[in-house]
Amino acid sequence: MTVKVRQLIAGSFEESHSECWLDVVDPATQRVLAQVPCTTDAEMDRAYHSAREAFQTWRNTPVPTRARLMFRYQALLKEHHDELATILSKESGKTFEDAKGDVWRGIEVVEHACNVASLMMGETVENVATGIDTHSYVQPLGVCAGITPFNFPAMIPLWMFPIAIACGNSFILKPSEQDPMTPVRLAELFMEAGAPAGLLQVVHGRKEQVDWLLTHPGIKAISFVGSVPVGRYIYTTGTAQMKRVQAFAGAKNHMVVMPDANRQTVLNQLVGAAFGAAGQRCMAISVVIMVGSAKDCLPEFTEIAAKIRPGAWDDAGSAFGPIISKSARQRVLGLIEAGKREGAECLLDGSACSVEGYSDGNWVGPTIFANVTPEMSIYREEIFGPVLSVVCVETLEEAINLINANPYGNGTSIFTSSGAAARKFQHEIEVGQVGVNVPIPVPLPFFSFTGWRASFYGDQHAYGKQAVRFYTETKTVTSRWLESDISTAVNMTIGLK
Ligand code: NAD
Repeated sequence: MTVKVRQLIAGSFEESHSECWLDVVDPATQRVLAQVPCTTDAEMDRAYHSAREAFQTWRNTPVPTRARLMFRYQALLKEHHDELATILSKESGKTFEDAKGDVWRGIEVVEHACNVASLMMGETVENVATGIDTHSYVQPLGVCAGITPFNFPAMIPLWMFPIAIACGNSFILKPSEQDPMTPVRLAELFMEAGAPAGLLQVVHGRKEQVDWLLTHPGIKAISFVGSVPVGRYIYTTGTAQMKRVQAFAGAKNHMVVMPDANRQTVLNQLVGAAFGAAGQRCMAISVVIMVGSAKDCLPEFTEIAAKIRPGAWDDAGSAFGPIISKSARQRVLGLIEAGKREGAECLLDGSACSVEGYSDGNWVGPTIFANVTPEMSIYREEIFGPVLSVVCVETLEEAINLINANPYGNGTSIFTSSGAAARKFQHEIEVGQVGVNVPIPVPLPFFSFTGWRASFYGDQHAYGKQAVRFYTETKTVTSRWLESDISTAVNMTIGLK
């Protein structure tokens, strides 16, 4: 019998009464692993009311108690690290090591949430006027919701609900319908850590369920991670409903290689950054800009890339897994075809890639295009596959201009041994996350994940101090206490005349 993915409502894991169920498919075999429901309106309503009720108590729960829940949760996540990675690998196709990294980056956010008391400290100024003091608190918003993508089914839900809940909110998570079992296991461990019923709800589905969350007047904030068209829709719809919204969207990340870069470092780092996780990372490098003679390393790079291969999650020899779905693979293949048609030089073509024993898998091998121009579809579109475009320019200035002309601004990096080149690049580049001799500069959770331009719609980013600001409201209190108002009895106690 097919496994039915459960939802978490009012503290219980339950099977939905929905009549609409979607298949969760193993992308390496097409085997149906489970079915996930489209949560019904009545169930969504119950989830909201339970979250609302839980918030009334949780907002008044002392902050050290809230932090202790996160400590217990962090310990459980570590204890179940391998188990979580196995579930994650099976449903997303990621290699086991990559899946462990996905879980680990989420655990680090929970560790950050343990520090919530310091993160929620307000500010104080004494004597803003004679005898008047001002101080501020940050207070939770209420019921918040999160909508997450398929490509990091552990890390991205953990970007959201631990911080929101540590701040005193309750949370409704709508994970990706393509790999919902990892988030449900995360929720089970959260309950096992001692979370009060109702604090976290997990509902499932697609647009209809997202629209329900976006338009419900009681939901105060929406956190979204996913593609650009959906991100724009979420941001415009959510803000039109007067909600606070942060929407992390797609990307096109460039790596600049200067002629003085350490060649071996470039070769090693670029392979992982371009093809790791089959290019299905919002921080993957999808364009490399070779400056001047840096392009001489291309033949050697192509040879290295030709040797790596995708494969099953539990095969230690797999460099990366399959594309998440048949339709996503078709889209990647369509873009590879467009690259050839539009005149780019295909140095390595992974479109006919196959893996022994997995004839039905959504495989695409490493693919490299040279002579790519900004007008081509492979340059303009986020491919989300193991496809690297190479652009050659003569100067760093040209590289910077090219990157700044691109609508996306998630991540970028420069490889060089010149401090001056690195300084110029980091200062002038209009991208939110910059690596210097680091290909995928994802900040740790005490910073924030700071995509810019078309890669992010909103104001406050994920994790770090910014997430605490996103999930809280600031209250500023100005008070005047006059000595003349002190009652006689108190005067005697504190020794005033
Ligand atoms: P997606 O936009 O298809 O789906 C994301 C979420 O939105 C899912 O939960 C999905 O059910 C829901 N959704 C899909 N269509 C919807 C619609 N029409 N209306 C409302 N909700 C809808 O994204 P995906 O394919 O799951 O994830 C890959 C994308 O996510 C890539 O574009 C990638 O760059 C992006 N991403 C961005 C970041 C970042 O931090 N910027 C991080 C990870 C992934």
